[in-house]
Amino acid sequence: MVEVLDRCGHSVERSDVNQERIDRLNAAIRDVNDFPKPGIVFKDITPVLGDGALFRETIDGFIDMIGDEKPTKIIGIDARGFIFGAALADRIGAGFVPVRKKGKLPWETNGRSYSLEYGEAHVEIHKDAVKPGEKVVLLDDLLATGGTAGAALKLVQELGAEVLCVLFLIELTFLEGRKNIDSGVRCEALLTY
Ligand code: AMP
Repeated sequence: MVEVLDRCGHSVERSDVNQERIDRLNAAIRDVNDFPKPGIVFKDITPVLGDGALFRETIDGFIDMIGDEKPTKIIGIDARGFIFGAALADRIGAGFVPVRKKGKLPWETNGRSYSLEYGEAHVEIHKDAVKPGEKVVLLDDLLATGGTAGAALKLVQELGAEVLCVLFLIELTFLEGRKNIDSGVRCEALLTY
């Protein structure tokens, strides 16, 4: 059994989470001190991407967290959310939608500004990226302050999509980022620190 946090931040047991997978992922993720600024401990996930079996296991973990739901689109957040999100979308036969940093999307966009662990930022989504009522999953590599995912979630909700869940590989629980994510939407991470 593994303890994870439910949407209210309470500890719950999840029997379908594979502890060995979590141990392997935890061992691979590299802490880089003082990147990109002094005082930040950056969680480097590139060793996970560089290991074919671990990369696949990460996608398996996301699929387990989605459960029986059938999203038609995975929404990935710039930039590492693109890597996991696109692989996940391909595996489950869903489409992929990028939420990008300001000025990168070529078509008409909706945007939101927010503050993050190290600075200010703005994310955008194409206005026609999802249809009203469409079932989607929002995904990023890491939940820190929750500014990025919270803004991305609002953009997707404003387009009328039904967000089944918001998923992360890593959650830095001490930053309490899930406070910035709509509490009515299921929010889970494979690894918590
Ligand atoms: P936040 O909006 O504070 O939740 O920040 C989340 C975004 O910033 C994610 O897209 C992460 O990739 C990145 N990020 C923030 N803090 C870290 C960290 N300590 N290590 C790695 N990535 C981080």
